[in-house]
Amino acid sequence: KSTTVTNVDGSVNNTEEDGEEDGVELAANSLLNKLIRQSLVESSHRVEVLQKDPSSPLYSVKTFEELRLKEELLKGIYAMGFNRPSKIQEMALPMMLAHPPQNLIAQSQSGTGKTAAFVLAMLSRVNALELFPQCLCLAPTYELALQTGRVVERMGKFCVDVQVMYAIRGNRIPRGTHVTKQIIIGTPGTVLDWCFKQKLIDLTKIRVFVLDEADVMIDTQGFSDQSIRIQRALPSECQMLLFSATFEDSVWQFAERIIPDPNIIKLRKEELTLHNIRQYYVLCRNRKDKYQALCNIYGGITIGQAIIFCQTRQNAKWLTVELMQDGHQVSLLSGELTVDQRASVIQRFRDGKEKVLVTTNVCARGIDVKQVTIVVNFDLPVNPAEEPDYETYLHRIGRTGRFGRKGLAFNMIEVDKLPLLMKIQDHFNSSIKQLNPEDMDEIE
Ligand code: ADP
Repeated sequence: KSTTVTNVDGSVNNTEEDGEEDGVELAANSLLNKLIRQSLVESSHRVEVLQKDPSSPLYSVKTFEELRLKEELLKGIYAMGFNRPSKIQEMALPMMLAHPPQNLIAQSQSGTGKTAAFVLAMLSRVNALELFPQCLCLAPTYELALQTGRVVERMGKFCVDVQVMYAIRGNRIPRGTHVTKQIIIGTPGTVLDWCFKQKLIDLTKIRVFVLDEADVMIDTQGFSDQSIRIQRALPSECQMLLFSATFEDSVWQFAERIIPDPNIIKLRKEELTLHNIRQYYVLCRNRKDKYQALCNIYGGITIGQAIIFCQTRQNAKWLTVELMQDGHQVSLLSGELTVDQRASVIQRFRDGKEKVLVTTNVCARGIDVKQVTIVVNFDLPVNPAEEPDYETYLHRIGRTGRFGRKGLAFNMIEVDKLPLLMKIQDHFNSSIKQLNPEDMDEIE
């Protein structure tokens, strides 16, 4: 399984970063991305579509008006500041809103408009006058369910009689209660309980079934089986929709098991590149030396914001304290923080409240902070075998070619680590220039 990507810090000399289950870390990362995302992620790729019936015409829309939505729903969309459908929404919305309903499997990276799309589908199919659950959305965690619920509430602001209810652990409803809310969002275990044990939800009346974050879902023990048990009890005319940010084989197999006769939509992920990054290294004897070099660089060039990566939490803490004592405004993003705390650290950094962010890999993976001009590897990323961790290097420094700004990257290298750096240089076939930290004129 390739889910270890979120836990790249788990090197032998750094066991303190370990200990989280994959599913938990994946869910935390996904939540973090949602908490800090303010706008759509751009993509230079084309949307790929595979229709279940290739002979039927393929519609795409350039405006929300073309979808002939209820007035109050269109108002909700505009109130959210959406002017036109995102790339995947252009293709997905006509399928999702078609009559008769069509099933869909959609994959695209987070931030491309999947949630907004299925929330729109749910809201457009709900009958506000009917007081029973009509749409069911499964999410991997309580927090992710709440995030989706918030989108329903915002987009459905003008759909006055439509209400959401959360089927999550801790939300206890007396047995025999007549549930009048039309949209249910919950985690598989609790939903299963509400449907079969407590009989709060009549699955035969569900019109739209959404399985969100399928990749996170299948990594959490028991969730696939529970989801499949729920899906089996749905009526055949129920619309089934599945979303995932990634698509390894395991997600794919699950998707095809749970969604009958699907249309398939894919948007390839933007590749990271080192082309628009100037890379340098500074040879150092020890940690103090690295610190001095860092200060020289920092003093020598005018920079916007910087992210500094350390290999261990301990190093990250040490560096943060040093920088603070020297009067820099720094914040530390570390694995000990809760997801909400991490989100707020990143948010403050985004807002420019701190100019320097010190972190280990764990938290900063997959979080793009566009305005960052400098990335510093205070320690080179290595794997447990003390070989260079190429993927992590690329993730720390790389930008997406078309939308990314130019950047600078500095590697602080102890002499004995130089061979590792040379390997990185060869691997990416890109040049990393040596820098004399006393002479910043070399940077240009
Ligand atoms: P995903 O579910 O793929 O992660 P979201 O639906 O959460 O993506 O959308 C990512 C961000 O973009 C959110 O802040 C959302 O409000 C915004 N967004 C979604 N669709 C549009 C749109 N058509 N126009 C502008 N912003 C949008």
